[in-house]
Amino acid sequence: MSKTSIYGLTFSELQAWLVEHGQLRFRAQQVWDWLYKKRVDSFTGMKNLNKDCVELLETHFHMTTLEQEIRQESSDGTNKFLFKLADGNIIETVLMRFHYGLSVCVTTQVGCNIGCSFCASGLLTKSRDLTAGEIVEQIMHVQKFLDEKGKGERVSHIVVMGIGEPFDNFDHLMNFLYIMNDSQGLNIGARHITVSTSGLAHKIYEFADKDIQVNLAISLHAPNNELRTSIMKINRAFSIEKLMESVKYYLDKTNRRITYEYILLQDVNDHKQEAEQLANLLYNHRHLAYVNLIPYNTVDEHIQYQRSTKESIQKFYETLKGRGINCGVRWEQGADIDAACGQLRSKQLKKQQAAKK
Ligand code: SAH
Ligand code: SF4
Repeated sequence: MSKTSIYGLTFSELQAWLVEHGQLRFRAQQVWDWLYKKRVDSFTGMKNLNKDCVELLETHFHMTTLEQEIRQESSDGTNKFLFKLADGNIIETVLMRFHYGLSVCVTTQVGCNIGCSFCASGLLTKSRDLTAGEIVEQIMHVQKFLDEKGKGERVSHIVVMGIGEPFDNFDHLMNFLYIMNDSQGLNIGARHITVSTSGLAHKIYEFADKDIQVNLAISLHAPNNELRTSIMKINRAFSIEKLMESVKYYLDKTNRRITYEYILLQDVNDHKQEAEQLANLLYNHRHLAYVNLIPYNTVDEHIQYQRSTKESIQKFYETLKGRGINCGVRWEQGADIDAACGQLRSKQLKKQQAAKK
């Protein structure tokens, strides 16, 4: 019998599982206390469980399947973790410090099939989806790392913006969100959690219908189809029109603000004309829109792209502002430690391949 991660079960799934296996319902509360409040590392450490229950859990579940391979700390306090999964695949997770709290960026897939032309994660096609347990474990590992420092620091925010397309792993993503948001667990507020998608419109409808108040970010990166298709091939399947229809549904249903991510690539999508087009595109629902301008992090393999200059970034920002669009520039964290999405992982894979030769 193959074991799965205990962290992959929502509270009600664990309750049902325990009852099915002859245990009392309230054991679920005890197990979750040990997992998420006391944060023990083994089932035997769950002191108020009887021996039978501990044995049952040990037979069916793992507690940790991630192994930390590397941790890099940047001068601005950003920590980047590289983990080896049970099957040998590697993924990365990033802890960032902001004035409002501690935010963790999680990975949802091993690689990514969307293949955006500027991204390090898409250099390698997806080999598999992560399970909900593997996504939860990334947060737990970082929280335990903070616990060890003894300062009482808590992961307060989550961004689902690491390697992978979260909406291409929808069910596991949803379980991860429910587990993180559960008041009986880590109790991270839904409004403190953001999921970023490259624009899988059919999943935006589905996400809008879920009863969880998690924030949505859409990686737009271009205001017209021609340009968007040239840098993001997903735009062939979900054009800007299709995307905007799903956005309308989402806004009508939730009345929650959407963040639009826009990477600034020098001389590709950073002209005044694109800023104007972007403003036009978002104008009708500007009260529920925020544009996050992201200065491009160069990726060795994508030599065709350069980061826009400070002046063009500033101009782009001002054009949007001038048209009444809420926006800001996201200056990167951890610039000295391979900050771009998927960069540390791709470097490590190259090292491993070189070592094999
Ligand atoms: N697949 C999802 C979530 C992960 S990518 C998505 O695309 O939205 C998270 C964000 O990082 C996206 O907005 C993505 O476009 C951006 N990104 C990718 N490569 C980057 C790079 N080299 N520099 C800056 N941002 C990058
Ligand atoms: Fe995948 Fe997002 Fe990278 Fe595009 S930007 S390749 S969707 S991880």
